[in-house]
Amino acid sequence: MISKHSLTELFKTHHLPVYRVKQVFHAIYKEGESDYSKMSVLPAAAKILLTEHAPVFCFSVVREVVSSNTDTVKTLFKLKDGKLIEGVLMRFRDGRRSVCVSSQVGCGLKCSFCATGTMGFFRNLTDEEIADQVLYFDQWLKKFHHERVDHVIFMGMGEPMLNYESVMSAIRTLNDPDALGIAARHITVSTSGVIPGIVKLSDEELQINLAVSLHSPDQALRESIMPIAKPYTIPKLMEALHDYVEKTHRRISYEYVMLKNINDSPQTARQLGKLIRGQRCHVNLIPYNETYLGFSNSGKSRIDEFREIVESYGVPVTVRVSLGQDISAACGQLAVEEKRK
Ligand code: SAH
Ligand code: SF4
Repeated sequence: MISKHSLTELFKTHHLPVYRVKQVFHAIYKEGESDYSKMSVLPAAAKILLTEHAPVFCFSVVREVVSSNTDTVKTLFKLKDGKLIEGVLMRFRDGRRSVCVSSQVGCGLKCSFCATGTMGFFRNLTDEEIADQVLYFDQWLKKFHHERVDHVIFMGMGEPMLNYESVMSAIRTLNDPDALGIAARHITVSTSGVIPGIVKLSDEELQINLAVSLHSPDQALRESIMPIAKPYTIPKLMEALHDYVEKTHRRISYEYVMLKNINDSPQTARQLGKLIRGQRCHVNLIPYNETYLGFSNSGKSRIDEFREIVESYGVPVTVRVSLGQDISAACGQLAVEEKRK
């Protein structure tokens, strides 16, 4: 949906009263309506204008898969230029309704275990294309479960810190009480460690969360699975994160995908513990969602052992709950499958 500002301008140009903007926003964001012709408060002229110039969604749905117990919905969206992106809705047992959004079409950073990385980079998403993914699932939830989205994570396709302005603009829309009204502290941006983005984020007023995909405490190993680690080395990254915490007083969440026999040894766990102990942080161990890329999931006992070792350094550790395994919910999998077909 176009921004409130653009909608106001559109109404002004066509000599429609601007109080109608609030009515349109209310119908879309609060009532979950996506068809202008059904917005009975609007006069016919406004309905026609909106249908022509301000479609509620800037994409169409190509494919949607719902996991057998309906806790995960994964949707493939087709943008106006034909490019495909995906978004995922997760309905957690604790009540959280979380949407994982894409920030780019593909990703240029080529992490060796990531399906999105194999696609390469096509283009940045606009703020509207990002926010609309959340709006889509918010309407889906209202329709099928009488629920609302209350958490957003930037962990879909792409590197959000390389599309900084659009990501921030989308976050302001998500945050807007007249739009989705999602609290900033319920929004998490995940980065593979793009330092300039981390520096910029520390100066933002918005109280959003930062997740950093570390995946290895060892420079050589990290470089071998994440090429971005070459320019943004671990020592430089740690320095930037130290400054971020000093400035924002917020806690960093380290993402650590558990790859069997690659980064999951007890020795690596000790190295990780030593690297980040004493920081205001926690570690989220991610069970690897197996793709066609040749990496394997570490398995529960290996993950538990790793967790205990890291915790012994006084670092809090959680293990991500894996939802939607029956629908290949890992980042980029659906879009890549569609392209391979
Ligand atoms: N580019 C950003 C955000 C998108 S990737 C980043 O890298 O942080 C979001 C997370 O999903 C990253 O931590 C990434 O390492 C992880 N990921 C990628 N492929 C995965 C897979 N097959 N299984 C589990 N996690 C995966
Ligand atoms: Fe890009 Fe993140 Fe995938 Fe790496 S893990 S290729 S940074 S989307």
